[in-house]
Amino acid sequence: MPKPRTFGLWLHPHAPAEVSTGRPRAVHWAYRSGADPADFERVADVSLGGDYQEPISGPKLSRFGVVGDPKRQSYGMGGPFRFYADFTRKCRSCGEEFTFSAREQVFWYEELSASNDAAAVRCRACRRGPQALRRAQATWDEARRAWRASSSTETTLALASAGLTLLRSGGATPRILDELVGALRGAMRDDAESAALLGWSARVELARGRHAAAQTLAAEFLARSGESPDEGVVALRSALEAELGAAEPD
Ligand SMILES: [Zn+2]
Repeated sequence: MPKPRTFGLWLHPHAPAEVSTGRPRAVHWAYRSGADPADFERVADVSLGGDYQEPISGPKLSRFGVVGDPKRQSYGMGGPFRFYADFTRKCRSCGEEFTFSAREQVFWYEELSASNDAAAVRCRACRRGPQALRRAQATWDEARRAWRASSSTETTLALASAGLTLLRSGGATPRILDELVGALRGAMRDDAESAALLGWSARVELARGRHAAAQTLAAEFLARSGESPDEGVVALRSALEAELGAAEPD
C-alpha cells in the first residue's frame, strides 16, 4: 500500500471544500462552482493514501466540517468530495444567501447519491416551499373541520399547531392568529387544567409580537407542566423556550 501523503484542506466561502497539494486550479472550479480559486484558504494539513477511494484523515477535522467517503458518492471528472464544509450560495429563486451545510452535503452526495456535479441552487425554504405549503393548507383545512365539528382541547391544540405552521409556510395572513387566540381562550374556559393550551397560547402570542403576554403564559405553562414526561409537553416546552429566546421584547 502506498504511503500516505500530506495535502492541504482548502476552504472557500462559496464553494465545496477541496483537498490538494496546492491552491485549487481555476479550470476545475470555474466548471464546478464558478468560485474564484484565489479565495481558497488552506486551513489544515491532511493525509491521503495513494488509493483514490481512500478517505482523508487529519487532526481535528470535525472543526472544519465532515470527512467525505468517496465510496458512497457518485462522481465524475471532478472527483469525489473528500471533505464537506459549510459554504454560502445565492438562492436562484429568492436571491437570498443561504448556507449549503456540510451535513446537507453528506445527505445529498452520500445518502441520496446525487451526482457530485449537482449542488443546491435554492434555499431550503424555496426548495420546500410549494410542497410544504400544500401540506400545511391540507392540515389546516382538516384541523379546522375537526375543530368546528367538536371544539375540544384536542381539536383546539391541533388547530393552533396547524395555524402556526400555515402562517409560517406563507399560506395565511397574521389574521389567522386572532382566530387561534379566540379558539384557545374558549378551550381554556372549558379545560382550565390543560398545560398544553397555555403553552400553545404562549406561542401564538409570541407570533403576534406580544412578548409580555407570551412570557406570562409561558411561565404558567412551565409551572403547570413541571417535569411532565409527556412527549407533546416536552416538545412544546423546547419549542417555546427556543422561540422565547429568539424573540425580541415588545
Ligand atoms: Zn430562496
